[in-house]
Amino acid sequence: METLDYLIVGQGLAGSILAHQLIQKQKRIGVVDLDNGNTASRQATGLINPVTGRRFVKSWKIDELLPFAQTYYEKLNISLNDDFFRSSQILKIIHSKEQLNDFHSRSNEDAYAPYLGAYQTFSAENIYPGVGQAKIAPVLQININTLLDALGRYIKDNTEVRQEAFKHEDLFIREDFFEYQDIKATKVVFAEGYLMRFNPFFNYLPIRFAKGEALIIESEDLKIHQVLSSKINISPMGKDIYYVGATYDWSSFEQSPTKAKKDYILEAFQESVRCTFKIIDHKVGIRPTVKDRRPLLGEHPKHRNMYVFNGMGTKGLSLSPFFAQHLIHHMEYNEALYDEVNINRFHEA
Ligand SMILES: Cc1cc2nc3c(=O)[nH]c(=O)nc-3n(C[C@H](O)[C@H](O)[C@H](O)COP(=O)(O)OP(=O)(O)OC[C@H]3O[C@@H](n4cnc5c(N)ncnc54)[C@H](O)[C@@H]3O)c2cc1C
Repeated sequence: METLDYLIVGQGLAGSILAHQLIQKQKRIGVVDLDNGNTASRQATGLINPVTGRRFVKSWKIDELLPFAQTYYEKLNISLNDDFFRSSQILKIIHSKEQLNDFHSRSNEDAYAPYLGAYQTFSAENIYPGVGQAKIAPVLQININTLLDALGRYIKDNTEVRQEAFKHEDLFIREDFFEYQDIKATKVVFAEGYLMRFNPFFNYLPIRFAKGEALIIESEDLKIHQVLSSKINISPMGKDIYYVGATYDWSSFEQSPTKAKKDYILEAFQESVRCTFKIIDHKVGIRPTVKDRRPLLGEHPKHRNMYVFNGMGTKGLSLSPFFAQHLIHHMEYNEALYDEVNINRFHEA
């Protein structure tokens, strides 16, 4: 077998986007992935939201990341001939006077002008109005399973994909290449999400687990066409289906759904909207977050040409396209990585 340019371990959102961008650069790649359907990527809501939280804070680097992601997904949508992407907005229900004040002061800041606006004429009988309403836009809404399926087909058509568990002990580090089973590759990139904790080369990095749960709800009379952020986020997915959630739990990485979070989501849902509904799915995934909330990119401190692409945390959709390109420029042209994302920030001097 010819020597590949890259072997990528992990084909979640991060690994898929990295693989796609490398193929676009005419690189010969191989991918090893064991998707059990429960990966963070397959459970995600699918939103790129520029302003988050109770205090309306702009996401890190969003002025760069959002236009980059928008162009990337728009082009991908066309080239893969699919339908996973749309530009949307969030109707944010404000529940307290303090939050309303935060919203008004944020709206007056120039840096927030492109993203925040007020709802002048709010009237929706089935949505609890709170003490005020805000509009967050542009928001990108991506059907992440359709995206991953389309990317998966593209990667399979253009490269060698092995659907199996990668065994790190079977990776042999030779002088100028890596050997894994019958595969030889000049570079290896690990994009394993939270399962990086089993990777003996990179498990020293401070990955933190943020378990998320969400309910998929069907309602014929809810009739919401934009994302609603009230006591919980409610995202329309088409055909009367809504993604409701997700939650955060920093203390568990059990892949099983819990009754406590289901009850929590249902209560928040019913405090946000009035409708008849039925639950059709309960989603669970583990987000690969980092203690400083920045991605993990870079070369292993001892093993040349061995890289990591991880730590996408709660924002894989906005971070992955931009930072896949950033990592590729580093691996191909030796361009410096941003200090904030370079894994050498965790290495002792
Ligand atoms: C409930 C929930 C909601 C979310 N909502 C959003 C959202 O709205 N917007 C947003 O931007 N982000 C969201 N996220 C975060 C987003 O999903 C993650 O940032 C992103 O999916 C991480 O992708 P990843 O490829 O790094 O990890 P993963 O999706 O975990 O993929 C890693 C892949 O590597 C494979 N793998 C690992 N080890 C091995 C091995 N040894 N052998 C073979 N294969 C291996 C796994 O099987 C998997 O396929 C959400 C996450 C959750 C859980």
